[in-house]
Amino acid sequence: MSARLIDGKAIAAALRQRIAAAVPALPRPPALAVVLVGDDPASQVYVRNKARQTRAAGMVSIEHRLPADTAQEALAALLQGLNEDDAVDGILVQLPLPAHLDEAAIIGQIDPDKDVDGLTEANAGRLVLNRPGLRPCTPTGCVILARDTLGDLTGKNCVIVGRSILVGKPAALLFLQENCTVTIAHSRTRDLPALCRTADILIAAVGRPRMIGADFIKPGACVIDVGINRIEDSAAEKGCRLVGDVDFEAARKAAGAITPVPGGVGPMTIACLLRNTVLAACARKGWPVPEGL
Ligand code: NDP
Repeated sequence: MSARLIDGKAIAAALRQRIAAAVPALPRPPALAVVLVGDDPASQVYVRNKARQTRAAGMVSIEHRLPADTAQEALAALLQGLNEDDAVDGILVQLPLPAHLDEAAIIGQIDPDKDVDGLTEANAGRLVLNRPGLRPCTPTGCVILARDTLGDLTGKNCVIVGRSILVGKPAALLFLQENCTVTIAHSRTRDLPALCRTADILIAAVGRPRMIGADFIKPGACVIDVGINRIEDSAAEKGCRLVGDVDFEAARKAAGAITPVPGGVGPMTIACLLRNTVLAACARKGWPVPEGL
């Protein structure tokens, strides 16, 4: 058996298209402010892509690029200004920040109603309490992919490998909201392959290249690979290539459906960021949420 490919690129493009179709009907286009500190090449690529896709969806993209030695107070002052600017609906601080900056304190400065990454304490609390709020983008992308593949997720066993604040924990809460029976695994979990074989939906968010092999997968399971790992490959164009946390070639023989890396969860993350920007604007301004979002 060879698994069906979950086409994250196409599913993300369809979501971005629904957003682009909804924006002209809003009283004004929502605006996303992205703050980049320093010159990390990967972060620069991410920020460029976010800005491009924001504009392509008909929204306003505001970019703030600050030098690597920016002081905590200067960054805090910029965020305060964005918080107070009624024309800004979403604020995203590109992570990681340079080491001299207190990342938690900076995230804590963002107005929770503009926190389109869903990383503030307020939004984490709202998620736990099942209250309306902005949800983290990557885990939301995982849920959308699972729903697109399986339909109603009620009663499915979902195993999430990884308990990070960014991915694993919020993913667990989001799949719980979908009425899944959720198990969170981590580096101290005993007999991880056997536990993973109980999963109808297996989410890999570990950060270890190709760790999840065929022996982790229940035949027919839906496998969603969050991992993005750069490995050396002399045959690849730049001497390296991206692989996930799942051993794709081995796993696809056991799984029913599987995301590729790249082209799976990655594109969903930005699409969900755009969606969050629209949702943030609607919630702040009291506009009805467009259909299809
Ligand atoms: P973290 O390093 O913060 O967390 C990794 C988790 O994996 C931890 O909970 C850790 O357990 C667990 N873990 C590590 N080794 C093992 C093991 N041998 N067995 C079981 N569990 C293990 O990573 P993130 O959650 O931030 O990211 C995970 C992956 O997802 C990375 O590859 C990252 O690049 C990618 N990513 C992709 C995104 C996208 O848009 N597609 C967005 C964000 C991340 P413990 O807590 O016990 O240490």
